[in-house]
Amino acid sequence: MRCPYCLFGESFVVDSRESNGSIRRRRECQKCSKRFTTYEKMVFDLFVVKKDGRSEPFDRKKLHGGVLRAFEKRPISEEEINSLVDAIESRIRQHKGREISTKIIGDIVMRQLKKMDGVAYMRFASVYKDFTDVHAFTQEINALEKRGK
Ligand SMILES: [Zn+2]
Repeated sequence: MRCPYCLFGESFVVDSRESNGSIRRRRECQKCSKRFTTYEKMVFDLFVVKKDGRSEPFDRKKLHGGVLRAFEKRPISEEEINSLVDAIESRIRQHKGREISTKIIGDIVMRQLKKMDGVAYMRFASVYKDFTDVHAFTQEINALEKRGK
């Protein structure tokens, strides 16, 4: 989404609300700090393919819910959660094609969480990643502890 004033490509979402099948987003340019509004039509342009092969339209609310659960009782504001979900969603939407697997989505989410909060990352990972391999799980924890998180 380009800033209409300076054409910079990155913006923060300050507010977003849904109405009549479209999403109104209030954005703030990361470069010139001017604010503008965008309207996005809600179309099911992206499908999430689950492990069992079934697919369903990508649902931002589900993503948001998953991220919220991971950050439960962690020191983070609602605004930070929203911009994190935005960042994750835009990465998901950069994926080529109309379908994306839950595994790839999980990887994208984990990559973002890892950078922000070790605890939230581990919570998310324990739900979405099958740590059937105990060794891999231990390695993840060790790596986190080494970084002091
Ligand atoms: Zn701008």
